[in-house]
Amino acid sequence: MTSRVTTISAVREAVAGARAAGKTVGLVPTMGALHEGHLSLMRRARTDNDLVVASIFVNPTQFGPAEDLQRYPRDLGRDLALAGGAGVDMVFAPEPGEMYPPGYATWVEVEGLGERLCGTARPRHFRGVTTVVAKLLDICRPDRAYFGLKDGQQFVIIRRMAQDLNLPVEIVGCPTIREPDGLAMSSRNVYLTIDERAQAPAIHRALRAAESAIAIGERDAPTLRRIVGEKVGEASLARAEYVEVVATEDLLPVARIQGECLIALAVWFGKTRLIDNIFVEG
Ligand code: AMP
Repeated sequence: MTSRVTTISAVREAVAGARAAGKTVGLVPTMGALHEGHLSLMRRARTDNDLVVASIFVNPTQFGPAEDLQRYPRDLGRDLALAGGAGVDMVFAPEPGEMYPPGYATWVEVEGLGERLCGTARPRHFRGVTTVVAKLLDICRPDRAYFGLKDGQQFVIIRRMAQDLNLPVEIVGCPTIREPDGLAMSSRNVYLTIDERAQAPAIHRALRAAESAIAIGERDAPTLRRIVGEKVGEASLARAEYVEVVATEDLLPVARIQGECLIALAVWFGKTRLIDNIFVEG
């Protein structure tokens, strides 16, 4: 049975009990509206740890003023059943006031990395993400915490935060789970109209085209960007916000694929912004 707790003290108490019994703890932070992507993280955490905690918290500080905080999909009853099925022992679902009481004033920010790629259009987004993840890591003190590579920039930033702050946790990156037609699973896919949904797999086709070019020896970053941009452009409803080829180390654009790089893009379909990426080695 999955237990549901809403207070920080209840999480601390449960984790302390598990620790006293010599158990390992895994944490899966989410904003709910769970799908197979989230569940893959939970199943991985179940395999690796004795106690699995998942958080479900639509974190207000990572949404911009014009973003979808109010209409973000929420269904806690459904999420609890799905999390239980994936082997989660405890769901932490706090109210915003539990995480950000009146007078809250402290932020965790990874400089530079949070300003690039998605950070250009969403200036405070990653500050909100790193702040809430730092708080969740401190509340839960897990041995391991699980994040999807679907949010590649987020993963890189959280890994850097944990390293810079010497947090005693292993940050585990998990592969992107996709719909059968290649669209990366996302809670925001429900916003797409039927026509937008039909065209959205163009994003993954574009990334695969880049992957194929790399497989036959292409290393030139501007060429790879052009391949991705052109393929996405074949979808008449798509409007690319950015297509970038960056080093995973600093998320700065590279001239050639060398070492570990990220090919990342953000694409608007109507009012819905979708992101996707692939990690590539040169
Ligand atoms: P979210 O609820 O969108 O904040 O996502 C919670 C976690 O699930 C993050 O670590 C995401 O990267 C991860 N995630 C979301 N979608 C996917 C996916 N399609 N495949 C793998 N992980 C995902």
